[in-house]
Amino acid sequence: MDKDWSDKNKEIQKLLSKEVTFGEAIDKLIEFRGELFQQITWIVEGYPEEAFYQMPFPGANGYHSKTLAYSIWHIFRIEDIVAHEMIAEDEQVLFRDDRLSKISSPIITTGNELEGEEIAEFSKKLNVRELYLYAKAVKESSDRILSHLQYKDMKRTFTEETKRKLVESKCVSADENAFWLIDYWCGKDIKGLIQMPFSRHWIMHIEAMQRIKNRLCKIARKGVDPVAICGLSCNHCFLGEWCGGCRTEYNTCSFATCSEGRICPNVKCCNEKNIDGCYECSELEVCNKGFFVPTNDGAGAAKAQSLFIRKYGKKAFLKVQTRLHEKYDFQKVQEILGQDYEEALRFLEENGQSVYSKTEKYSGDV
Ligand code: SF4
Ligand code: SF4
Repeated sequence: MDKDWSDKNKEIQKLLSKEVTFGEAIDKLIEFRGELFQQITWIVEGYPEEAFYQMPFPGANGYHSKTLAYSIWHIFRIEDIVAHEMIAEDEQVLFRDDRLSKISSPIITTGNELEGEEIAEFSKKLNVRELYLYAKAVKESSDRILSHLQYKDMKRTFTEETKRKLVESKCVSADENAFWLIDYWCGKDIKGLIQMPFSRHWIMHIEAMQRIKNRLCKIARKGVDPVAICGLSCNHCFLGEWCGGCRTEYNTCSFATCSEGRICPNVKCCNEKNIDGCYECSELEVCNKGFFVPTNDGAGAAKAQSLFIRKYGKKAFLKVQTRLHEKYDFQKVQEILGQDYEEALRFLEENGQSVYSKTEKYSGDV
């Protein structure tokens, strides 16, 4: 488990145990849930639709054997059922505002009963944007419930009547892989429920989602040119593990995710000019688009890298990058290259003296 998340969770659980620190625990829990939810937001905003029904670890033993869409559905169905059927005893978020039909889910259960290909088939049917809005609504609703709880509520337990209500709701499948959940939840007090569906359960599934998306990016990048369209090296970029690069659908660079249609201005412009990258453009030196916008700290460095590719080719560029990254991390290299692209180009040339030759011109391949 992520060390930082694990430590935060442990601290919250400790604070929950004492009346004097209970209020602080709830505040920290809501803040922590916000931090975890941000991961889900980034995934939903950063990855293409097809990513949500892929199973890059089929048959694996663990939560990463599922899909991204299933993981979101499962985390928030469980929380919605527990928060509303058991704690608040009111209507679940799924049944308000026509959410179920907007998501297009064929089931109302937690999904525990689904196996293998059934998970991918189920995931394909879901409207991911609506699923995300449902998850957000459940989170906000649970945060409100949490903030109204008092220390004395922590010991509240559940009765046979709660079990009967859960069975009748049909929100937990009668399948043996799912039905145990009812006994499991009803065997806990509210403190126990906070410890699992409201925090630890999130951590485990969000970590699994990170594994799934990283694997999808790795698969997408296989055999793809590692030189980005603006002239960065995807092989050396700090985003490398969780981005497929701008030559794939798995482009999570902020210049893409924050742009209309998730298309980076540099990619769009190169596509319109029908060129391989900015290094082939005659306007490169004066360009202010996308990554080259003067307010971007890395603009000068990127431009110098593109100019270097134009002069010496991609192979030489990647070699120089590898040499620099043996000494410095991505951030430091960008810092050293600085904002003045002419100076940065000279620096790259000096550092590349021994790894390229001027006869090794750009040939379009790597
Ligand atoms: S700024 Fe655009 S071209 Fe450069 S790496 Fe990001 S998506 Fe690719
Ligand atoms: S105008 Fe700018 S963004 Fe467009 S191809 Fe040329 S250098 Fe790249």
